[in-house]
Amino acid sequence: MNLSAIHQTIEENRQSVLDHFFELLRMPTISANPDHKDDLHHAAQWLVQYCQNIGLQSRILHTSGAPVVFAEHCPYPNQPVLLIYGHYDVQPVDPLEQWHTPPFDPTTKGDMIYARGADDDKGQFFSFLKAMEIIYSKTGSLPGNYKIVIEGEEEIGSAHFEELLSSQRELFQADSILIMDAGQFARGVPALVYGLRGLAYFEITCTGPVFDVHSGQFGGGVPNPAFSLIKILSQLKNDQGQITIPGFYQDVQEPEPWERDQMAQLPFQEESIKKELGIRAFQQEMNYTPLESMTVRPTFDICGIWGGYTGSGSKTIIPARCSAKFSFRLVPNQTPSKTATLLLEHLKSIVPPDIDYHVEVLPGIEPIITDPHKPIFTAFNQAIKNHFGRSPVLIRGGGSVGVANLFKRYLVPDSICMNGWGSPDDGVHSPNEHFSINDFFRGIHSTVDFIFEFQASFNRG
Ligand SMILES: [Zn+2]
Repeated sequence: MNLSAIHQTIEENRQSVLDHFFELLRMPTISANPDHKDDLHHAAQWLVQYCQNIGLQSRILHTSGAPVVFAEHCPYPNQPVLLIYGHYDVQPVDPLEQWHTPPFDPTTKGDMIYARGADDDKGQFFSFLKAMEIIYSKTGSLPGNYKIVIEGEEEIGSAHFEELLSSQRELFQADSILIMDAGQFARGVPALVYGLRGLAYFEITCTGPVFDVHSGQFGGGVPNPAFSLIKILSQLKNDQGQITIPGFYQDVQEPEPWERDQMAQLPFQEESIKKELGIRAFQQEMNYTPLESMTVRPTFDICGIWGGYTGSGSKTIIPARCSAKFSFRLVPNQTPSKTATLLLEHLKSIVPPDIDYHVEVLPGIEPIITDPHKPIFTAFNQAIKNHFGRSPVLIRGGGSVGVANLFKRYLVPDSICMNGWGSPDDGVHSPNEHFSINDFFRGIHSTVDFIFEFQASFNRG
């Protein structure tokens, strides 16, 4: 296949590609606001029609919330299926007065398109569809098996996506998942995400007297639940940043030497991040860099702590109760359930019998990792190199991506890759969100090469 004709067609049609993209950007698909229900339906219909026109069988999947666009092209029964995920809904636009141009009237300034959703996530998944469209228009077919899933409620936590996925596993079944909702590590540094941390989350309450009592009358004699709480929490992590729960690190998959080398070379701007956050120093785990500690190592964090008197002036009491919410970010191969078991056992052994406490286990999230030498990564590596002039960096994210976990749980795919062409300073979720036209087109070109490269990797065996 001579790809240069396809690449040439993209360049010759830049204006019409942008016009088409702008049509999508003009739809105010704010999922958080019920007033935009019709806009969500309209956008879903528009996408179904669009997918239909580029050789995909498409339809709307109804949920009790916003519709999901589903399109497929799976004519090769002996070849793997690639599922591409994106979301057509966007964040609300307020504060509107801070926008320099109307959020749903896409405006070009230099290399940038200003519009809500330009990066997150319309620009990201639309680049994939555009690549497919141009391949289809030039060759009359699409190489490989594809399923396209474009959700309409990602920005409100994918509230109804799980019910769809769990009830229609067969329909969504895929070997590789590509989530087009990540981005470059820094502008000009494309990235592929191959892992995410998980989460174990708890709420603890320590109790003392059944009601707040006078500290002058009872102080020194009656147990204070605030002390109990800080004693317990302070014993979960030492001064080296290590978690002290026995067995906590047992299942932890250590970052491999190549991962640490790669992370050391990333343009992680330690000084400017410190300045931006207003912190004097990072408090990373001993023997690990701040970036490693924030992505490939587990952590313990107190997310909130409350109890007793917190109003103005002084109120002399011993509080009846004191609580905290705390979490562990988990790495492969830890699990939220085992973490809960280890924590509860540990608390039994360190908390004296005269302290009353109760721990509630809140919903957790499993960590995710894919071998980044799988074909989806190697194919993108080559494709991106061809058009960005450099290989993408392979990274693991410190947070979690809800849909990635849903795909992992219900489809058990061979690989999950997260990609995108946006940059960290595109202002997603903020006023004046923008997206680079150059990166949008480099993304389309890269996707064309990816589609053929990915396909070729299976034909090569
Ligand atoms: Zn997004």
